Amino acid sequence: MVKYNAYQEMLDVLDDAAEKLGLELSDYTALRHPERELKVAVPVEMDDGTLRVFSGYRVQHSSSRGPCKGGIRFHPGVNIDEVKALAAWMTWKCAVVNIPYGGAKGGIEVEPSELSARELSRLTRRYTAAILPLLGPERDIPAPDINTDARIMGWIMDTYSMFKGYSVPSVVTGKPLEIGGSLGRKEATGRGVSIVADEIAFRAGISMQKARIAVQGFGNVGGTVARIFYEKGYKIVALSDKDSALYNEKGLNIDEIFAYVEVNKTLKGYIGKGVQEITNEELLTLDVDILVPAAIENQITKEIADKVKAKIIVEGANGPTTTEADKILNEKNIIIVPDILANAGGVVVSYFEWVQNLQAIFWDEHEVNTMLKRIMIRSFDEVYDISKSKGFSMRLSAYMVALNRVVMAKKIRGIFP
Ligand code: NAD
Repeated sequence: MVKYNAYQEMLDVLDDAAEKLGLELSDYTALRHPERELKVAVPVEMDDGTLRVFSGYRVQHSSSRGPCKGGIRFHPGVNIDEVKALAAWMTWKCAVVNIPYGGAKGGIEVEPSELSARELSRLTRRYTAAILPLLGPERDIPAPDINTDARIMGWIMDTYSMFKGYSVPSVVTGKPLEIGGSLGRKEATGRGVSIVADEIAFRAGISMQKARIAVQGFGNVGGTVARIFYEKGYKIVALSDKDSALYNEKGLNIDEIFAYVEVNKTLKGYIGKGVQEITNEELLTLDVDILVPAAIENQITKEIADKVKAKIIVEGANGPTTTEADKILNEKNIIIVPDILANAGGVVVSYFEWVQNLQAIFWDEHEVNTMLKRIMIRSFDEVYDISKSKGFSMRLSAYMVALNRVVMAKKIRGIFP
């Protein structure tokens, strides 16, 4: 079996989109290579006095359309190919929703749950210092991703500001509100996913009020999607995290599950009326109308795709579906709203946060959510229309929109020198 390589997966779709756009290799070959890749060693003094050295990365894929933008992930599975892929997906994501950014991503190979808060702070600050030459409001602006949150973004903002000698809130997004974060940022990715889910269900003639929905992942993205759906009265029949998956054909009580996770930090051990524990694989292959993978990449593999029964997949996570699986799902006429469109809400509101920081003003939450909705629906319509008129999948259509914008920007700027 060929080993999964997230960057190769990205290149396969890119080449396909380029061919459909009638591009020559020379038109986009530079975009097959990230502009910059930095690997850093991050020594951290642990609370018991020992020293551990962690591997960290920051990759800038493209700055053709503006400063590089992308999250930072703390996870034991982080590796350079994953970070490169995530950085490239950020380029396409920012282009598909047409915000003036290029793409970047960073990560540290670490299991953060094993670290104390002080160790986590030292790790974050040392990593920030190590990648400092790449960062800046006009250069590269990090944000949260798997296992990173507002508190960690606050530490990044503080570390960068200490080196500068003055406060620079615009160097990072997803910060706490008290130091320049934006209202609505925490929920933005999940909110965006819910907006496109409503749009695609409407187009496919599926009533969300009657739909059976499964969500993989119960973190920032999956948890928010579940909460928004639940508040709208939609029925979530299955939900999972890395430890467990829950199923109730009558619908799960999301409020109760949030209360359980608040205390226990995991879905494992939750007992609710009519709830049974299933595996993550079973969740992905349930007979549902809408499946929202919102955990991590490489979940819907070829083997899983054969068994997927969902009518629609809305990709909350980045890269949850492999290229091989994508082909199978397309043959089965399963509609996929691809990651670079579906989960773009996070970077859209990150952009709003950056704009607010640069202008030193604050928008209210209604303004943020209204603008987010406008951009998500505009982008969805654009991709959907190409998909319908040309008969391509929504993934290919989204890549075509994105690639076209980035190639145009590159062409207009020209190659230096
Ligand atoms: P998070 O750390 O808040 O949550 C991740 C969730 O996935 C947790 O519930 C975890 O238990 C679960 N999980 C991890 N591995 C799993 C596995 N193998 N099987 C089942 N569940 C598993 O992270 P997040 O911010 O919600 O990010 C989730 C996905 O969404 C990632 O792919 C991320 O890149 C993408 N994303 C996040 C944002 C954002 O703003 N946070 C924006 C765009 C895309």
